[in-house]
Amino acid sequence: MQSPALARRRTRTGVDVRLTRRAVMEASVLGVASAAIAVVLSGADPLKAAGLAAAVAVFALISALLHELAHLWAATRRGLRVLRLDVTGALSGGLTREASACPRTEAAVCLAGPFATLALVGTSVIAFLALRDGPALGRGLAQAMFILNVAALAGTLPFVPGSDVSRAWAAWRSDARTAPPGAA
Ligand SMILES: [Zn+2]
Repeated sequence: MQSPALARRRTRTGVDVRLTRRAVMEASVLGVASAAIAVVLSGADPLKAAGLAAAVAVFALISALLHELAHLWAATRRGLRVLRLDVTGALSGGLTREASACPRTEAAVCLAGPFATLALVGTSVIAFLALRDGPALGRGLAQAMFILNVAALAGTLPFVPGSDVSRAWAAWRSDARTAPPGAA
């Protein structure tokens, strides 16, 4: 069963964007876990750790949103109709869209999300290196974002059934009429 939407917004192009309660709960759990690790392992100030918890929760949701926005961008750029974008978990989401009759287009739309997540992994590495001598909070956030986005990237790989890359591969190999439906 789908988790109820906590926030909804319709974009100018008519895409229904939803953030589910489950996503906020998962992000909060990840935030608190990251803060607890920071306190236990590096003796972080509990007040700063609370800031880290909030920052990790927000950035986890932003990461999931950016992944789905990449699918959305790729789909609309190729003229496919997108009805809905859901952020359903701290690391997961879905796009309800028209499937393309062109296997190449379908594969490109499926791969756009993993590319965005890969860019987020790279960005977190750059942020961590840039903050080497900076505040511990920033470093902790960069570390948490690295781990979360690597986990999200692993979930898009071909050995995960129904994942972005396995669907892109299936689309690439399929005939135009048998392209999989568009829930990325
Ligand atoms: Zn995806």
